Amino acid sequence: MSDDCLFCRIVAGEIPATVVHETKTTLAFRDIAPQAPVHVVLVPKLHEPHAVALAERAPGELTDLFVAAGEVAVAEGIADSGFRLLFNTGADAGQTVFHAHLHLLGGKPLGPLA
Ligand code: 5GP
Ligand code: ZN
Repeated sequence: MSDDCLFCRIVAGEIPATVVHETKTTLAFRDIAPQAPVHVVLVPKLHEPHAVALAERAPGELTDLFVAAGEVAVAEGIADSGFRLLFNTGADAGQTVFHAHLHLLGGKPLGPLA
């Protein structure tokens, strides 16, 4: 855990979040500023700044994020209509929280990226 990391503090229960799914390695909660009708953030409980660092250190935990995303998509009723999974990696991508996280977006046609 990193004491000054927002998502580590959510994982630790120090900051409230609307949790929709939890496994041994992963926590999924609703984004505070949703960009789609369904917008869930999936985070590894392990602190790494971005997805590539996570892949290098703990590839299984990266896979766990995708498996959890599929389970959340089913629970949210968007598994069949479709959804977007994305990682923002670094400042130019708009990453604001430097704890790796997978965005799950759906619930409407999302249109093209950017
Ligand atoms: P990024 O821009 O780093 O890819 O994504 C960070 C996401 O975290 C943003 O979509 C932002 O709305 C969300 N976020 C920031 N602070 C909080 C918070 O305190 N709680 C929750 N649930 N989401 C947050
Ligand atoms: Zn963290």
